Parts: sequence; structure tokens; C-alpha cells
Amino acid sequence: MSKKILVTGGSGLVGEYLKKILPDAIYVSSKDYNLTVAKEVEAMFELHKPDVVVHLAAKVGGLIDNIDFPADYYDDNILMNTNTLRCSRKFGVDRFIGILSSCAFPDEVKSYPIKEEYLHDGPPNRSQFSYGISKRAFAVQIEAYNNQYDSSYQYLIPCNLYGESDKIEESKSHFVTALVKKIYEANKDGNDHITLYGDGTPLRQFMHAKDMAKLISIVIEEDITESFNVAPEESVSIKEIADIAIDTTNSSHLSIEFDSNMPNGQIRKDLDVSIMKSLIPEYKFVTLQEGVKDFYDFYKSKENGK
Ligand code: NAP
Repeated sequence: MSKKILVTGGSGLVGEYLKKILPDAIYVSSKDYNLTVAKEVEAMFELHKPDVVVHLAAKVGGLIDNIDFPADYYDDNILMNTNTLRCSRKFGVDRFIGILSSCAFPDEVKSYPIKEEYLHDGPPNRSQFSYGISKRAFAVQIEAYNNQYDSSYQYLIPCNLYGESDKIEESKSHFVTALVKKIYEANKDGNDHITLYGDGTPLRQFMHAKDMAKLISIVIEEDITESFNVAPEESVSIKEIADIAIDTTNSSHLSIEFDSNMPNGQIRKDLDVSIMKSLIPEYKFVTLQEGVKDFYDFYKSKENGK
């Protein structure tokens, strides 16, 4: 008999791609259950009785929203994670896949790229501190459950994601979405430049959300239960990805200005992917050139009402 898979956060950036890859799973969003409320989570497990839980739901947002609403980021994530993990254990869930974020890692580590084992080696970056700590606490919680209850629950730690279902609102969207939106609007309004926050030097890995969804499905299919970093190996600076976006969208008439009065965020957070590569050696990620171009074309058609 095939396993019953329950996916929280089904309406989000990763959830929408996972629906295409695992169409038979059950997808829930905040419209179905508020996962910060224990009783609602119990009701969800009572009804669906899953064998596998993919817990994508989280309060996720951009730098400014994280700075303005740190308590909400902390509370919502701790509550959602606790309620979902507790019920998974209570209802005998066999596989639990929690999703952390590279923001959980220390702001600085002793050597780069960042290995999974550095998770507790120092405080996260101040700009997303409460989100980062809530994700770090989730790793502690999952490992504590495994130690106490002899389960094989796991977590995956992805780098920055982008894709078509990202939130467009500026304070909530992620970097690539905000970048594409700026290029689109500059072209539409006939401007000659775009302005980005910080000085362009921070290094990032960017992954298309469809790769994250695909890798989750491989983890389930191949019965991989380790916890590990998930990212393409390549890191680019903010300036480099802006150049890629300008180039692939035929917008070379636009110059890039940097607003150094705005924060840079973490200066680098490239993840070591040796464990991922040993478990899933053949995986090929969508390139930034393809991914950003497709996203720009999608965004343009959406804005033009096509
Ligand atoms: P997203 O697009 O922001 O979607 C969040 C999902 O969580 C939505 O389905 C939302 O439902 C649901 N949700 C939020 N609050 C809820 C609540 N109180 N009760 C029930 N559901 C709730 O997230 P994502 O980008 O797909 O991220 C998936 C996972 O990857 C998250 O754990 C995130 O922390 C992690 N991650 C994301 C990134 C990134 O760059 N996006 C990077 C690293 C890690 P509604 O649509 O109904 O609100």
C-alpha cells in the first residue's frame, strides 16, 4: 500500500511545486488549519492519519519584515513546529521532514562553506535572529525526538529559494523576486537604473523552488533519513546575480545602484553540500540563467494579464 503523505504549507513557494511532483499527497494551508493552534493540528492529524509528514509551513519573509516583526517570526514558527512534530509522534508518523533555513546558521563560522555540524557554533545574523533561532530550535527538537523516541525524523537546510509562487509584496518577497520586479518596473517606466539594498558584496546560493520540491520527493522515494544542507554548489554575490538578471532579461540599458545605507544582511552563508552530493550524486539544478529568465518571463506575462 502506498504511503499517505501530508504536506503543510501546500500553498507556498515550495508546496506549489511539490503538488506537481507528488500529486497524490494531501496539501494543507492556513485556510485549512492554523498550525499555531494545537487543537487544529490535532484535528488535522485525526482526519488525515498520515504516514509521512513534509512540514513546509512557516512564517517566512524578507529582511525588512523580519526586522519589523521579530516576535511574530519566533512565536509562529515555534508553535507550528511544536504542534506538528508533537502530533507526528502522537499519531505514529513514520517519516517527518522538517525544513530549516540557512538563516539558522551562525552569522560567521570558522571556515566556509558552512557544514551542518556548525549549526550551534555562534549566534545567527541579527537581521533575522528570531527566525534563525526558531529554525535552529527546530533542529534541536527533531533530534531530541529521535533520541527520546527512537524515531528517524529529519530536517533539510535549504539556501535562498526563488520561483513563481513567491510573494510579490516587497517587504515579504525574497531577493530574486524583488530583483525581477525591480527590473520589470524599471523597463515598464522607462527608468535607466535599479537600486538594490546594501553594497552588492554578500555571497549567496540561490535555488529554484522546483529543485527543493524535487529533492524532497527524492528523499521520500529513496528512503533517505539523514538531515543535510540543500543547495547548488555555486555561490554568487548580490552584484553577480543582478548582472545575470540584467543580462538574461535583455536589460543591459539598466545600471545597478547600491544603497549602502540599507543593511547587507549576512555577508556570506554558502552551504557545504558534501552530504547532499554523497546521498544524491547525480542531481542537476536549474541554472540561475534559466531560472531567472523563466521567472522574468512569467512575471511579465502575469503583469500583462496573460
Ligand atoms: P511560503 O511560500 O512563505 O509559504 C508558507 C506556507 O506556510 C504557506 O502555505 C502558508 O499558508 C503556510 N502557513 C503560514 N502560516 C501558517 C499557519 N499559521 N498555519 C498554517 N499554515 C501556515 O514558504 P516557502 O518559501 O515555500 O518555504 C517553505 C519552507 O522552506 C519554510 O519552512 C521556509 O522557512 C523554508 N525556507 C524557505 C526559503 C525561501 O527562500 N523561501 C529559504 C530557506 C528555507 P497560506 O498560503 O495559507 O498563508
